[in-house]
Amino acid sequence: MFDTGFHHPVFSIQNRGLEMRELESKARIVVSELDPKFKDEVANTPGGENIKRCFLCGTCSAGCPVHELSDKYNPRRIIRMILLGMRDKVLSSDFVWLCSTCYTCRERCPQDVRLSDIMTAVRNIAVKDGYIHPSYSRQLSLINTQGKLYEIDEFDNRRRERIGLPPLPLKNEDSGKILNACGISGLMASEGGS
Ligand code: SF4
Ligand code: SF4
Repeated sequence: MFDTGFHHPVFSIQNRGLEMRELESKARIVVSELDPKFKDEVANTPGGENIKRCFLCGTCSAGCPVHELSDKYNPRRIIRMILLGMRDKVLSSDFVWLCSTCYTCRERCPQDVRLSDIMTAVRNIAVKDGYIHPSYSRQLSLINTQGKLYEIDEFDNRRRERIGLPPLPLKNEDSGKILNACGISGLMASEGGS
């Protein structure tokens, strides 16, 4: 859940202090855990080609609508972590899944780093390593069983019938076969899970 920032001022300052300490400890650099080749791995993944152009000016963070909602999400920090080689921390982080792909940073970046595409590249590497955000694994489960992201039930079909539309199938077995063929069915949320 995002921090809207609309809190009692005293508690807000205290909470912000706690959040910052939490972030600082998560972003702490342990040299022995760094992977200096991570930036090359990202650069060699489609979408990540321009990562090394970044000079960390912060223009992306200044215009990012997700950063405006929560300063926990900071695109400049993510780029910095990638350049430093904080592979595990980046790939296991929820933050890489929060980018809304609005392309504001891409429009404004003076170095044409194409950060929104880098986020896609990082997500693809994360998925290959077995990391996926629960919201995406849930979406995969819905596509697997129904072929669509929004659940259709009898109620929806009755409403469709009232306005002269044909019913939609409640299950779609073909989409599950496609997920299997793509080798991503193992990333789905388990039944009853998140
Ligand atoms: S705007 Fe571009 S160069 Fe500046 S920090 Fe963001 S990605 Fe890097
Ligand atoms: S594309 Fe992602 S990182 Fe860039 S401004 Fe939009 S939400 Fe922020």
